[in-house]
Amino acid sequence: MSKTTKSGAEPAAASTSNFIRSHIEADLAAGRYAARTWGGKPGPARTHAGAASDTAKIRTRFPPEPNGYLHLGHAKSICLNFGLALHYGGACHLRFDDTNPEKEEQEYVDSIRDAVQWLGFDWGPNLYFASDYFDFMYEAAEYLITANHAYVDEQSAEEMRANRGTLTLPGRPGPWRDRPTAESLARLREMRAGQHAEGSMVLRAKIDIASPNINLRDPTIYRIRKATHHRTGDAWCIYPMYTYAHPVEDALEQVTHSLCTLEFEDQRPFYDWLLGKLADGGLLARPLPQQIEFARLNLTYVVLSKRKLIQLVDEKHVTGWDDPRLPTLAGARRRGYTPEGFRRFAERIGVSKADSWIDYSVLEDCMREHLNEVAERRIAVLDPVKLIIDNYPAGQQEECFAPNHPQKPELGKRVLPLTRELWIEREDFAETPPKGFFRLFPGNSVRLRYGYVVKCTGGDKDAAGNITAVHCEYLPETKSGTPGAETVKVKGNIHWVSTTHACATEVRLYDRLFKAEHPGAGDRDFLLDLNPDSQKTVTAQLEPALREALPGARYQFERHGYFIADSRDSRPQAPVFNRAVTLRDSWAK
Ligand code: ATP
Ligand code: MG
Repeated sequence: MSKTTKSGAEPAAASTSNFIRSHIEADLAAGRYAARTWGGKPGPARTHAGAASDTAKIRTRFPPEPNGYLHLGHAKSICLNFGLALHYGGACHLRFDDTNPEKEEQEYVDSIRDAVQWLGFDWGPNLYFASDYFDFMYEAAEYLITANHAYVDEQSAEEMRANRGTLTLPGRPGPWRDRPTAESLARLREMRAGQHAEGSMVLRAKIDIASPNINLRDPTIYRIRKATHHRTGDAWCIYPMYTYAHPVEDALEQVTHSLCTLEFEDQRPFYDWLLGKLADGGLLARPLPQQIEFARLNLTYVVLSKRKLIQLVDEKHVTGWDDPRLPTLAGARRRGYTPEGFRRFAERIGVSKADSWIDYSVLEDCMREHLNEVAERRIAVLDPVKLIIDNYPAGQQEECFAPNHPQKPELGKRVLPLTRELWIEREDFAETPPKGFFRLFPGNSVRLRYGYVVKCTGGDKDAAGNITAVHCEYLPETKSGTPGAETVKVKGNIHWVSTTHACATEVRLYDRLFKAEHPGAGDRDFLLDLNPDSQKTVTAQLEPALREALPGARYQFERHGYFIADSRDSRPQAPVFNRAVTLRDSWAK
């Protein structure tokens, strides 16, 4: 397993330059795409590539298959493609690569649009569906046959596999390879008309059956699938293969730089072969798009395989596609992660040609950094026990003031009402203090944050020995913000909320979904690596201002971390909170 980056090293270099940027800059300097009149070319490009007056200098695209929800890995690709277009005055297309009729659903299309927009990107008029090009793709297939660049192969799947050879064995031509073009054309038309059974024949490119690159050994470009497509319905019973469709989609949309992950590197010769042949035949215009590969995001402590994500949802290991623990963008959003945090993350990890692992803490750090800048501070007691100020009059109440953000006075202050009885964290009291404990224990004084210094006098216990209340006395001259505040020095500073005013609320303390750095490494079942403590739900006591929290509002709960009012389960005056991330990395070894 390759090494894991914890620091998200090379941050400066990543944001300013990388091999893709250098490549684009060289193309721009050479005027490689300058001569192109966008949208003005003959053929389908005119109808698909947007307005003729378009001045986009480069074109990239994000091409998801609508067969799942977007995950954290997709965020890298989205930030990269849209980011480059923004940087170079170009356009980035959102294209649904819906060439596979079986697994695609409108639900996925909607969720993908939503996620890209949430990340802060706008495709403008450039929203496309690969299925809109089915007519062109079919015409191109007929052209390839007539130009002797493709043939219909009627070998069985086993025969085809055997004749294709292996990584070490060259392939052998099958019996249909040199059949007359008219015959192939007739078969393709019959395939299209539904006259042949699934699996009985395929259309293959005619390239080099003995090529050392197995992808060039006459790859299949069309197959029979008698399936209903989510957009074209039953209009087609043959569908193009992804490897054939993708380059054609790029070319029709006049994409300049087609960025994909490293596993497609061996497909690049086919990408170039196909577009070159179609351009030679006058079906596509030059200059043609270029495929450039980069290393996909590998992140520790998560799974990013669509199959595994679907399994987690279907088998109800999580509550749904937007479960805050799931590494989907819908989940991350509900968890309280921010688009700015993702964009920062994408910059920090950069792009490279070498596969590597990024430690999950790098993503968490990016979220913390952004949330620290924007989240207002609030007080929440997550494990409440009562603190009684015995010398504070019952029924009396006064206002304490807490800044909404320590570095941003312009965000103002809010009122924390102080009363005789308060909620404090259970762990802030110890009957017999461990070494180095500066909070409440009999005889010790602490400051009630934004309030008074109090001296602990003891605790009440129930029959089982559990602390039921803590007692203290306050020093009236020590109120924060008054001249006497500094006269008594204390080492501990604890947070509190008035029991009279507190808002009791469900708070979910989410943690990582997997406890293993590489879930399912080797042949291990990844489900065995699920973290049994990935969600703990508590009833917390929150300061009264949080009663008004709107769904989606994010806060720092002082001393605890960053939280968001849940967008599904919050009700007016009754928010429910999710923990996005703790204040410090609790997983660091
Ligand atoms: P599938 O196996 O279904 O093809 P996929 O993860 O490739 O799954 P797509 O919907 O095809 O999903 O991906 C859309 C785009 O996102 C592709 O360009 C793909 O390269 C990119 N992408 C997917 N996973 C990652 C990842 N982990 N890191 C970076 N980019 C990714
Ligand atoms: Mg894919």
